Formats: sequence, C-alpha cells, structure tokens
Amino acid sequence: MTVISETSSPVYDVSRVRADFPILAERIHGKRLAFLDTAASSQRPLSVIEAVNDYERHHHANIHRGVYQLSQRATDRFEGSRERVREFLNARSEREIIFTRGTTEAINLVANTWGQSLKPGDEILITWMEHHANIVPWQMLCERTGALLKVIPMTRRGELDMDAFEQLLSPRTRLLACTAVSNALGTVLPLPTLIAAARRHGALVLVDAAQAVAHQRLDVQTLDCDFLAFSGHKLYGPTGIGVLYAREAILRTLPPWQGGGDMILTVSFTKTTYNDLPYRFEAGTPNISGAVGLAAAIDYLLTLGIEAVAHHEHQLLEHATERLQRIEGLTIIGEAAHKTGVISFTLEDIHPHDLGTILDSEGVAVRTGHHCAMPVMEFFDVPATARASFGCYSCNEDIDQLIGALGRAREVFG
Ligand code: PLP
Repeated sequence: MTVISETSSPVYDVSRVRADFPILAERIHGKRLAFLDTAASSQRPLSVIEAVNDYERHHHANIHRGVYQLSQRATDRFEGSRERVREFLNARSEREIIFTRGTTEAINLVANTWGQSLKPGDEILITWMEHHANIVPWQMLCERTGALLKVIPMTRRGELDMDAFEQLLSPRTRLLACTAVSNALGTVLPLPTLIAAARRHGALVLVDAAQAVAHQRLDVQTLDCDFLAFSGHKLYGPTGIGVLYAREAILRTLPPWQGGGDMILTVSFTKTTYNDLPYRFEAGTPNISGAVGLAAAIDYLLTLGIEAVAHHEHQLLEHATERLQRIEGLTIIGEAAHKTGVISFTLEDIHPHDLGTILDSEGVAVRTGHHCAMPVMEFFDVPATARASFGCYSCNEDIDQLIGALGRAREVFG
C-alpha cells in the first residue's frame, strides 16, 4: 500500500495511489475511465477488498452469541472495527459508536429516538443545502410531533447566510442538524461557529459528515457535537455500513428504535429489558464484513494522510475550476470561498442528463441530476446539474479527459 506520511509535507504520488484501486484500470466504451463521481460513492482500495475477502474466507460466523472460536473471531473483528472508528472520531467511548447502514439510517435513528421528546412549537434548524437524508426525516418528525422545521438560507455563492442563522436561533431551537459539506455545491460549512452558536441557545447539534469524513479530520470532542453520521462508502469503504456517533449521556436517555435480537437483555411476553450501549441501538445481525471493510478503509486513508489527500484534492479543484471557467457557456453552480473537491455545473442549455451520457461515451463518469438536494436546484433555478467530484485517486488526466469530453458535447449539441 502507498505510504505517505502526514507529518512530513509529502510529495503526493497520485499514480502510486491509483495503483491501489483496481477498478481504475477498467475500460469504459473502450476508453480510459475518468472516475469523477467520488462524492456519490468512492472506489475501494485493494486493502479494503482484501480485508473483506479475508473476513469472508476465514472468520465469518454470527457475532456476540457464539461460544465457538469462529464466532469469537468474528466478534473480535467487528468490535475491533468499532474501536477503530472510535479512535478515528476521537469519541470518548465505544458505547458512543453505533453501526448503521449508512448516514441516512443514522439520521433516522436520531429522529425516531431523540425526536420522540419533541413538543409542538419546538424547532429544528437545518440549512438550505442539506441532502434529502437530512431533510425528510425531520419533516416526518415535525408532522408527527407538531415541531417546526426552520431552514437557514444561503447566498448566491452557495454560502450559508450567517446573519439569518443567528436570527433563526432561539430558545425554541432544540436541534441544529447540518451538513459539514454540501454534496451538491462542495461548500464547506463553518462547523465550529455554527456549533458554538447553537450551544449558546441550548440546542443539540447533529453533523451530517457524509461528504466531510474522507476530506477533513472530524474530532467529535473538539467539534463538541452531540451526533455525527457518516457512511463507509464515502470513505473508500463498503456500502451498507455507516456510523452514528452520539454522546453517551444523551444515548442513555433515548428509547430504543428497532426491536429484535441483540438489542435486548431479556424478553418475556410481559416485559423486555434492553441491552447496554451501543447494542441497544443495533437490532438484528449487523453488516459484519462491512464493519471490517470500514476499519480497513480508515486505516488506508490515515496511511495516506487526510491532510495530504485534502491538499491534493484542493489543487485539483483549483485546476479544474480554472479550466471549466474558460469554457464558453459553462456555469459553475456553487462558488463558496471554502469548498471541497466538488464542482457542479451546467453547460448552455444542454440538459445535464444528455451531457452525462455524452461524457460517459468518452469514459468520463460524472453524476447528473438533483444530487438528492432538490431545494438547492430550486434555489439556483436549474432542474439539475452535472457534478464532478474528486477523491484521493483523482488526477489531472481525469480533468483533461473531462474538458475534452465537454468539447465533444458542445460539438454534438452545438
Ligand atoms: N448526506 C450527504 C451530505 C450525502 O452526500 C449523502 C449521500 O450522498 C447522504 C447524506 C446519504 O448517504 P447514504 O446514502 O450513504 O446514507
């Protein structure tokens, strides 16, 4: 595996990083693959593929309940992965790390447990640039409880309107649920400022870290958030595994959500008692190999160095932005001063889906559509955008190929 130290101002050798990702050698319509859709799902390095393979070949059994050796091996690996996640987030205890299917399930868990305490007139604050996963669960909760959903507006550059934010906070605000990075615009939100302000008003804070987790350090103690959610597949790990971090003192007060095996201590027809944290929130057999793969993905990213990767992605962002801006008729949607490696754009009046199809025929994989952020599309008055996004393996050649394919699209639709 490529080793790039975090501390020693590394020279980032992207060709060595790319060699860790077998899928990048695939040919698409006979062309080199320029994979520019990491924001939707990142690719997996060989070390993750092999960790999952090793688990499946040598260690699989159901966890927690088995006295036989194989079950104990599987349990050790699953719980070892939880410890790896705890360390990664700098959570105080493994009791604060709940495995979920992903960010979406983690947010729904909070809405369905903590959310039960809401009363009519309580307020939940979200931002205009949330993914649907951080909108719809709160809307559903508000419908059930009579609480109100308030939305912090944004500016034409795609930055949060901080004055409006301050005005929306009040003693009625029970929760600020906000993304760390907008998946549709790439905007990095000023989490420390947002969290400090929410705290001053006594509100809890949930961070949707789906788009941040692979690009910035997330230390839950420094951030001082109450909940944080992310998905393994945005972090070079498998799909179907994710994490909810929740402050232990809060978790202890929450009712269980899904009922079933593993989340109980005793069951009788008259009374059921519940398991300790975190198992109380993990009903049923979990995605064991997914957790193993997630731990391997964390190891991989930390070996590259999050800061080194983020620096590399930032250089690509600047280079791609500069190249795209030179294309006549191309409009970049989202021009925040602080962005991650995500560029949304439209090209003249070519529908983004048509654009995506042409780009695909040139081997370029970009996402087109509303990116599960329909309010953002409405705000910018576009039905959809094309979105290029970068990861640790993205390179200048990918950008060259994108620019070339956009030229081809203009010829086709010209
Ligand atoms: N939040 C953000 C900001 C996202 O970008 C995504 C996925 O794109 C999600 C939540 C949902 O993640 P998942 O589908 O893995 O649950």
